[in-house]
Amino acid sequence: MCLEKTKRLRSTDFAGRRVLVMGLGSFGGGAGVTRFLVEKGAKVTVTDQRGANDLAEGMSQLDGLDITFRLNGHQENDFTAEQNDLIVVNPAVKKNSPYLKIAREQNVPRTSEMNIFFQLCPATIVGVTGSNGKSTTTAMIGAVLQAGAEGRAEHKYRQVWVGGNIGQENLLVQIEHIEPDDVVVLELSSFQLYDLQEIRVSPPVAVLTNIGPNHLDWHGSMQAYVQAKQNILRYQKKTDAALLNQRDKELAGWEKLTPGEVRWYPKKNEEPIKLQVPGRHNQVNASAAAAVGELFGIEPSAAQEALFEFKGLEHRLELVRELKGVRYYNDSLATTPESVMVAMDAFHEPLVLILGGYDKKISLVHLAEKVVKTTAVQAVILLGQVREKLAQEIEQCKTRANSSFPMDVKVDSLAEAVILAQRRARPGMAVLLSPGCASYDMFQNFRQRGEQFRQLVHELE
Ligand code: ADP
Repeated sequence: MCLEKTKRLRSTDFAGRRVLVMGLGSFGGGAGVTRFLVEKGAKVTVTDQRGANDLAEGMSQLDGLDITFRLNGHQENDFTAEQNDLIVVNPAVKKNSPYLKIAREQNVPRTSEMNIFFQLCPATIVGVTGSNGKSTTTAMIGAVLQAGAEGRAEHKYRQVWVGGNIGQENLLVQIEHIEPDDVVVLELSSFQLYDLQEIRVSPPVAVLTNIGPNHLDWHGSMQAYVQAKQNILRYQKKTDAALLNQRDKELAGWEKLTPGEVRWYPKKNEEPIKLQVPGRHNQVNASAAAAVGELFGIEPSAAQEALFEFKGLEHRLELVRELKGVRYYNDSLATTPESVMVAMDAFHEPLVLILGGYDKKISLVHLAEKVVKTTAVQAVILLGQVREKLAQEIEQCKTRANSSFPMDVKVDSLAEAVILAQRRARPGMAVLLSPGCASYDMFQNFRQRGEQFRQLVHELE
């Protein structure tokens, strides 16, 4: 491997500029870039459709900073050249926003936190994307590279940073501490990748987990979603590297998008990797991390050790509690039908499934078919905005399969779902919250949903 070190100039262009941050986000996702801009001397205005209460997480991180807030809706005036020199747009904002139209018409430049990071980051970036398994793979790669940083690698690097969409440390705020001989592992969402085309940059190392329909409400079509994902390869150079999952049929042909070195994982006849985290999907995620380790010349035994030590991330098949012989798992982060199907495969024991949430307008047919066909599924509890649609799909599949199983029931709250799940579960069974949908219809985010589930499970007697 010959990864070219990217030494980019550290821009201080923000000093004295009037910058509008559009979208603080209920998670506080925009707080990092806001702090960064204020520290760089920009005059910052933050605008959000929501009010201070909904934005509490982000607001608390901005306490004491000199910022103008425009909450409970945007103001057209803020998007004009008269008012601002630059707009930093939250990746979740839809591109057809009428406010962004005003900015475009007025030639007010627009960027995103991730684009600023790519422009300023002097280190080698390992970008990770896919429809499922991004965070887990990112964290596993971080763990493997950490083993290399501790001295067991052929290509020496100083420090490993892990960030981006995974929502751990905000790396833009840390940019002054990131050195050219560091490695940054970044989880990249389809929204962030969509924006990257503006600056025509791809990460020097790109890792793709898999591609399935997701966020079609935002992208508009599967084709647009795929095009955004492909930006991770599109602007790579000859010296760059791409690691692609050879088990994912959707990725076939993607090697043509990069002039760099392409490596497919898992290799043919690859030995299973010893892991503590469950499921076949985690074998594939670990295989991606091992492939990155190999790319960086990390001793395979050190990589294997790091992967075995990996305990998994919160809200991803997280074992919450065992009560009266029933194990309760929190997989609140499973926000796509594919991730639920994968989660179901990770279990051998009979299951009570809690499914449903916000309707992302993606097809639920395959999920319904899988639920009906999987004999381990004993009962399904349906929750959220999508529950009627999901119930209909399951009923239709049952009719087609001439089956009266599994039993499905609709509920109004997660509390009701947990109580019902306990009633349905017998010793030796597992209760799995794996919604397959986003959480915005009932919760602030997946984290709040998962935490509430944990709490409800701990309250069971
Ligand atoms: P993402 O960051 O893409 O949302 P995560 O790593 O957070 O993915 O995992 C979320 C859920 O997706 C997991 O709990 C699991 O059910 C499922 N999942 C994880 N890895 C994979 C994979 N390689 N293929 C399919 N589904 C996966």
